[in-house]
Amino acid sequence: MWIELIDGMLLQSSDKFGKAGVPLFVDLFVNLSIIIALIFTYLQLKWQLFKRLKLNDKVSHLINGIAGGMLGLILLRFSIQVGDSTYIDLRYLPIILVTLHGGFRPAILSGAIIMAGRFYINHTYSAYMALLLMIISLTGFLLIRHYAKRGQPLYVTGASMVLFSNIAFTIVISLLIGDWDKLKVLFPNYWLFATVGGMASIFFVEHVRHSQYLLDKYELESTTDYLTGLNNVRQFDVMWNELIHGAVQRGENLSLLAIDIDHFKKVNDTYGHAGGDLVLAELAKVLRDNARSFDIVSRNGGEEFSVILQDCSKERALIIAERIRQGVEDHHFPLANGERIQITISIGVATYPETVYNPDQMREVADQCLYEAKRTGRNRVCTASAEQFAQK
Ligand code: GH3
Ligand code: MG
Ligand code: MG
Repeated sequence: MWIELIDGMLLQSSDKFGKAGVPLFVDLFVNLSIIIALIFTYLQLKWQLFKRLKLNDKVSHLINGIAGGMLGLILLRFSIQVGDSTYIDLRYLPIILVTLHGGFRPAILSGAIIMAGRFYINHTYSAYMALLLMIISLTGFLLIRHYAKRGQPLYVTGASMVLFSNIAFTIVISLLIGDWDKLKVLFPNYWLFATVGGMASIFFVEHVRHSQYLLDKYELESTTDYLTGLNNVRQFDVMWNELIHGAVQRGENLSLLAIDIDHFKKVNDTYGHAGGDLVLAELAKVLRDNARSFDIVSRNGGEEFSVILQDCSKERALIIAERIRQGVEDHHFPLANGERIQITISIGVATYPETVYNPDQMREVADQCLYEAKRTGRNRVCTASAEQFAQK
């Protein structure tokens, strides 16, 4: 047996370890590559799948637990034989990752799947020692996670788990092999790879999850108003252009409500900007509750909102607008201090093709009607045709 440092790479002959002719370094490198490739594939798949299926936490934990177990089994398949029936591999890594990101149940599930796989290979003394090592490791990981300080970076918790796993491995394998000539080569190799592989995977998972989180966030924020959860003005534009185009093509009605809160400055002056924000968020709910489920409610900016009513005549639009206006007038808006206040809104209504024949003028006419509602006393719904405005 010999150890040689070539170009900084630790190579080791495998007359005693591993598959014939394959250095330990290569085996461990293969394990690491498998981990990175599979984790990446899994995280991407899960990300896309979970977004579409909107799976809850329980199902998500179950899938994570199974995935961790499967990854462990694959790593087991690429184990390196170091004793007559003793295998080493990076099977603890998936458990560390699942414990870090999932917690108790998925970690136990992964551990159980991996051990079932290990016992499928054989039922030797080594297999029972592997079970013991798994139980010790799992307990250690879960305790480390449990006692991790709040806000402690994940990689610190992960590093503690890797260290714990290495120590547990060293103790159990020492008892199992007991041949110092073998151990003095095995341990530096194992510690090096388990540590480098462990930390690389932990950072890798963190990086991929963070990137996915940011992508989701930007995707959402590009279409959604952060305060109210309604469509933002950009999304309103996109949907408006689509719907007005469709209405013209199909010869359908399309109505637009332009909504503005009455004397909203007073709310801000009296209850502060934060109080005003609470009212805006609550108003979004009231608008949604009083519109039809398929109507498109947006926050077009500040305290200005809009509702697009598809396939909706002027008469019907006026009824819905009045219902919304009344709903807001009757609603008691809660503030942070427990106080409840009432507000009113003004609404301008435009309907294609009844009040506005030119689709390009719809938004302008709705705004003019809103202005008319403000001018004539607020807390009211107004509509007028484009011609009426043109005559003024
Ligand atoms: P009017 O009945 O004529 O509409 O009176 P108003 O006081 O509502 O007047 P206006 O629409 O011009 O005022 C809008 C106010 O809304 C001014 C601004 O301080 C406030 N505002 C705009 N955006 C926000 C926001 O995001 N949060 C809060 N709290 N206030 C906002
Ligand atoms: Mg305004
Ligand atoms: Mg206003």
